[in-house]
Amino acid sequence: MASYDAIIIGAGHNGLCSALVLARAGFKVLVLEGGPIAGGAAKSGALTLPGFVHDYYASNIGLFLGSSLYRAFGKELHAAGFQFDVANQPYGSVFPGGRGLPVYMDPKATEESIRAFSLKDVSAWHALVGEFQQVAPYLFPLLQRPIPSWAFGRALFRMGRRLGMMRTQEVIAQLLQSPRQFVQARFESPEMQALLIPWGYHLDFGPDVSGGATFPYLESMQDYLHGMAITHGGIGRLIESMVTVFESLGGEMRLNTAVTEVMMRNGRAVGVRTQGGDEIAAKRAVVANVTPRRLFGGLVDAGALPASFFSKVQKFRYGPGTMMVHLALSGPVPWMAKSLARSLYVHIAPYVDDVAQADIQARSGFLPKSPLLVVGQQSSWDLSRAPQDRETLWIQVRSVPYQPQGDALHSIAVGGWDVIKEAYADRVLQKIGEYAPGFRSKILARTVFSPLDLERDNPNLVGGDSVSGSHHLDQFYLFRPFPGWSRYRTPIAGLWMVGASTWPGGGLNATSGYLAAQAILKNG
Ligand SMILES: Cc1cc2nc3c(=O)[nH]c(=O)nc-3n(C[C@H](O)[C@H](O)[C@H](O)COP(=O)(O)OP(=O)(O)OC[C@H]3O[C@@H](n4cnc5c(N)ncnc54)[C@H](O)[C@@H]3O)c2cc1C
Repeated sequence: MASYDAIIIGAGHNGLCSALVLARAGFKVLVLEGGPIAGGAAKSGALTLPGFVHDYYASNIGLFLGSSLYRAFGKELHAAGFQFDVANQPYGSVFPGGRGLPVYMDPKATEESIRAFSLKDVSAWHALVGEFQQVAPYLFPLLQRPIPSWAFGRALFRMGRRLGMMRTQEVIAQLLQSPRQFVQARFESPEMQALLIPWGYHLDFGPDVSGGATFPYLESMQDYLHGMAITHGGIGRLIESMVTVFESLGGEMRLNTAVTEVMMRNGRAVGVRTQGGDEIAAKRAVVANVTPRRLFGGLVDAGALPASFFSKVQKFRYGPGTMMVHLALSGPVPWMAKSLARSLYVHIAPYVDDVAQADIQARSGFLPKSPLLVVGQQSSWDLSRAPQDRETLWIQVRSVPYQPQGDALHSIAVGGWDVIKEAYADRVLQKIGEYAPGFRSKILARTVFSPLDLERDNPNLVGGDSVSGSHHLDQFYLFRPFPGWSRYRTPIAGLWMVGASTWPGGGLNATSGYLAAQAILKNG
């Protein structure tokens, strides 16, 4: 039987983070990926026409660039070909009547944008930015510490000492607000309130869910101050560079090799069995980049787990589904609000209540009348992604039910996603057309991924949930994935879990894979 020090199940970016750290420490490491391409939710390719490169799913790599993994391996990743482009017009929102609210890294230009809606909100924006600049140096390190841990406690204590206990408590209270409470406390104009709300829904925070203020606060401010980054040539290039560095450290990876079982002896994980029937031994660790509901009771027999643990696994909740529409365009989107032409992301809800309604409709099993759209204009910042004068468009549709029971607009006869996805994509394109007349005549080709397609492509995207598990407070922070199990260990000795379902959750944060590998090196 072939034997390795560590086997990583799944070549998502977190699996690859563990692989890099362990290989650099001298472990003999094997990565087994079920699909034909590494990267999981971070893949790119010509999804519409030759010469048009699309990020299938994830695109914004800001979290990755702020990670400990990037600090530790950035030089090698760049030597292996990783490059990124930074948009200094990171995001914006569009409103009826052709009005746009773009955010620029240039403070004066952003001020102009906001002033068109409210003079008072210009001062409110500056106040928020000023506070963020004080707080960010203490908040971001927290997201890269294991939780609970002395390191986390120390980082929190440092924040308290530097900012004062009163200020620290105010910051935490703000993070625990719902997105709506947060924006209403800050801004008077409905448009400024609407500008920040969609960021909460990049996770699964509708406007009225406690704890949902965190991501709108961090992402809106961080992108304004530092711009938004995407991988030059498509996000697959980032993953390829990780694989190149891993292999240069002696690591091995096999694609199209799904793991069907974690093998155990005397209660310890000792290797894996693949779909093809191969048995491969792991002497020191098996690291599963696999969401809990697939791992426990799937790859690990439920009978091998304490009943109390398995009951937590069964209660792990996934968020609503996502749909992706990819377009090849003959030219730029003809936004009525011309100022949005180069916003990397344009959010269309348009208002806070529109996001709330789409959330309720999707969670009740209905195709939303008017879903929140995240429109990504990557090719206007990375010219290598489309032929000259042509454009790609990346549209994330938030959110849709996994098993639709009806249509809130009563116009689509509901069936399975394979039957209805093109009709729902038409609704999405029509919505964009309302803000960009003539837009549909520019479409050269399109590819639509339903939530079912997402799940088929990556078993971690259960129900098409783009972030592998709800991030509501009972499943986040030290409760992710379950209370008592947020430090990547499992009840099976030698078996570790990483990925979006573990702390610090979804996104290309490169953190759980990195922290789990550190823990394996220290204690494993
Ligand atoms: C539409 C969409 C848009 C997003 N946009 C962004 C964004 O712009 N920025 C951002 O930061 N985040 C974004 N995210 C979230 C982010 O992409 C994910 O949270 C992140 O990629 C998850 O990484 P992971 O390490 O958990 O592994 P995953 O990406 O889930 O990959 C896991 C891998 O493991 C493999 N695997 C699973 N089970 C097995 C098995 N039994 N055997 C072998 N292989 C197996 C899978 O095939 C997959 O390749 C987006 C996600 C989606 C879906």
